[in-house]
Amino acid sequence: MKKLNLPEEGQHLEMGGFQMPSIQEAPKPMNPSMVMLDKGLLPSKGRFYENDIYIKKWGVLDIKNLNKMTANNLDGVVNSVLSNCISGVKLNDIVITDKMFLLIYTRFFTYNNKPISIQVECPICGNAEKRMFTSKDIDVIQISDDFDTDIELPSGTILTLKAPTIGNELEANRLMNNPQIIESLDKDMLMVGAWIKSKNGNDMSMFNSYTYLSHEISQEDFTSLINYLMNTYYFGCKGLMKYDCSCGSENKVAIPFDNQFFAPKM
Ligand SMILES: [Zn+2]
Repeated sequence: MKKLNLPEEGQHLEMGGFQMPSIQEAPKPMNPSMVMLDKGLLPSKGRFYENDIYIKKWGVLDIKNLNKMTANNLDGVVNSVLSNCISGVKLNDIVITDKMFLLIYTRFFTYNNKPISIQVECPICGNAEKRMFTSKDIDVIQISDDFDTDIELPSGTILTLKAPTIGNELEANRLMNNPQIIESLDKDMLMVGAWIKSKNGNDMSMFNSYTYLSHEISQEDFTSLINYLMNTYYFGCKGLMKYDCSCGSENKVAIPFDNQFFAPKM
């Protein structure tokens, strides 16, 4: 029997005078319906993405699925919509704090920034009115330029941070459902662990970070870490719109995720 070897990289296969080029990744043609996203708009300001990000409009199937979204299938539906309409970053690498913003932003992109109307009531003066909102009104808390990914905890432990991604969220779900893990895991704590890239220079898996946070860290170190992430340097988008009331109050109102949002009459 003759053992066949694959050609070395860069070698050409000769086929009866016909030369076949070696297999190379063809450059992906840019889809003309893709538009480059200004990463500076994101809660993360794009700090955790290497490449440019492109968006395209929701497809008919995306809209159909979004219309049938329930609390139970929410993550799956949103992830599938984002994987269809975002490129330049893998779904698993999208930072969770950018997820809600991307969903809302792509909605306005899909419908040419068609406003949504929301009934608001000012908590200060009580003025009730209907307001129109577009993508410029999305309430975004952006990452501070002072957010340092290397931090030293009070005990002297050095942590290098990253931002939790959709991939981490899926991994957390897998860990929660892993029958080989006897301990019942706390999902919130798993997701705090997803912020930790390394501890004192040693890379940490999500499960290692979880063990560290739930069994080893001191209360003082834990409180400092939580304060850093959730209070002092919080960034994200919670599905709110911001507006100024005539009384001068700067208010926020929740976006109703209804037909008007997902499939407005054009
Ligand atoms: Zn007011």
